[in-house]
Amino acid sequence: MKNSTRRVFMLQVAAGSSLIAVGAAQAQTVPMVNEKDAQPMAMGYAADTTKVDAKKFPKHTAAQKCANCALYSGKADAASGPCGIFPGKAVSSNGWCSAYSKKA
Ligand code: SF4
Repeated sequence: MKNSTRRVFMLQVAAGSSLIAVGAAQAQTVPMVNEKDAQPMAMGYAADTTKVDAKKFPKHTAAQKCANCALYSGKADAASGPCGIFPGKAVSSNGWCSAYSKKA
């Protein structure tokens, strides 16, 4: 590989890495849903599915969580991701709310 070709290749790799870093930074800037806000409270949202009020939601089980909900669009291995119920915010992949619908 000639030096100029190698330099171009290295610049392309650096540019690609920068774009990946920017994308990751943007993904992290989405605010998390706050359990204490009015809408999440009305939906019974809990960031930890094991902390859901069993008296209020007797049909809830600990196996139900955002990660396996049809409305969750985060990556399978991510700690959080978008949910159609809370646009512009992220929910915990281990969370739950009363709109839970098992992913098919
Ligand atoms: S709708 Fe599904 S993904 Fe969204 S908060 Fe409720 S359980 Fe989680």
